[in-house]
Amino acid sequence: MNADSIERLKKTMKKPHVNSTCIGCGACAAIAGEVFELDDMGLSRVTSLSEYPESETEDAISACPVSAISWQTADENGQYLNGVKEHEDIA
Ligand code: SF4
Repeated sequence: MNADSIERLKKTMKKPHVNSTCIGCGACAAIAGEVFELDDMGLSRVTSLSEYPESETEDAISACPVSAISWQTADENGQYLNGVKEHEDIA
């Protein structure tokens, strides 16, 4: 895979990430229920989709009262954040 293909892949493989500041208000799940759901702890987590709807996800990002949601992009191996898990913070 050449450098251009990798750059294209990075741009297209976007996925939302919820960090540890989530307070479980549920706004993101109410706005973009296909993308976010509340886990057993009442915190938001990202569902598993092959593609995430940009507009709904952006609305949820804007509505989050603690700015816990951000986009992450895949690396050249298709991995997100080099193994960082949901509710861990992006360095
Ligand atoms: S909107 Fe923000 S604080 Fe509320 S549940 Fe979603 S990620 Fe957590």
